[in-house]
Amino acid sequence: MLAAEKIHTLSIARPQADQFRLAALHRYHILDTPACEDFSFLTELATQICGVPYAVISLVDAERVWIKACAGMRMGELPRGDSVCSLAVLGEAITEIPDLSQDFRTARMTLAVEAPFVRMYTGVALTSADGFAIGTLCVMDTKPGRLGEVQRAMLVKLARQVMALIELRANAQTLTATVRELEELATTDELTGLHNRRSLLHRLKFETARAKRFRSPLSAVMIDLDHFKQINDDHGHAVGDQVLANVGRLLRESVRVIDIPGRYGGEELCVILPNTPLEGACKFAETLRAKLEAQLHYAGPRLLPVTASFGVGSFDHMEIADAESLLRQADTALYRAKHAGRNRVECGAP
Ligand code: GH3
Ligand code: MG
Ligand code: MG
Repeated sequence: MLAAEKIHTLSIARPQADQFRLAALHRYHILDTPACEDFSFLTELATQICGVPYAVISLVDAERVWIKACAGMRMGELPRGDSVCSLAVLGEAITEIPDLSQDFRTARMTLAVEAPFVRMYTGVALTSADGFAIGTLCVMDTKPGRLGEVQRAMLVKLARQVMALIELRANAQTLTATVRELEELATTDELTGLHNRRSLLHRLKFETARAKRFRSPLSAVMIDLDHFKQINDDHGHAVGDQVLANVGRLLRESVRVIDIPGRYGGEELCVILPNTPLEGACKFAETLRAKLEAQLHYAGPRLLPVTASFGVGSFDHMEIADAESLLRQADTALYRAKHAGRNRVECGAP
């Protein structure tokens, strides 16, 4: 008989609460995660304690049973209807089947009718913190029979350890994600989506050290919006904010992944360009200036042109400098750009 036919003939009753059980399983984010020695170790321990050749940690998903770890056999995932473990999440704490070939629910399952011809099955439900059976720790043998009382009790304890490990992994994942989120919040300027000043200066220090270490050039571009006070006065602070947000987006979309665009303060932005000599940084600044000049911003019924002035500072490995002098150089160039009429790029020392 083909495997598909066998599966079709099996109809395992699924309780109404299966959706809640699945929600509990999915909260652990364990499905399809890579193999892990800690889980394999627990299945090995289960085979030793129970004196059987096979042990499996399985998780019962909507249509499949996914194997987290197994000892004694290699197993990927199984269709839910072709897995004994799917019976072990139906409500019983322990599911014992002394001989799969003699039980109408399992007699035609692949494990029973094909190598390794499993006969004995004992599965302990892995129960989530909120009381749902998400999978099993099970042991199997090619001989029919039952586990001894002590072995059964030990298997229950081992299943608790498996569950504790699943919880621990999930908590660690949540913690990592939270730390990442907090990091993002602490380093991002809310209005522009750019690095905030603290993060920008922190990264600049790091990039300066790296440029010295690897003898690579480093540049910084200071950008100051032209007559921004007038924009606020003429169109209101909300329009000013919107313009700043638009310029922030333009900047983020214009840089390479290794560049660090930030809001230095107010309407003053800055981009750190690692591994970039003065000439490249000036070209970048000129392209950005032209893009910004070409962009129009909504201000009520009118479209508003906005320009900025740019100052570029740079050092290469030949003349070692520090973060402060790099910014000072860019700031002095920016001052020159303002005085020369705005909407222009000035590069390096005069
Ligand atoms: P310049 O061309 O010389 O740079 O002229 P400017 O008007 O841009 O320069 P000034 O330093 O006189 O004014 C900067 C203005 O930017 C004043 C300040 O209210 C405004 N500004 C700073 N931060 C924000 C912000 O977050 N939102 C808005 N809407 N305005 C801001
Ligand atoms: Mg300005
Ligand atoms: Mg300014």
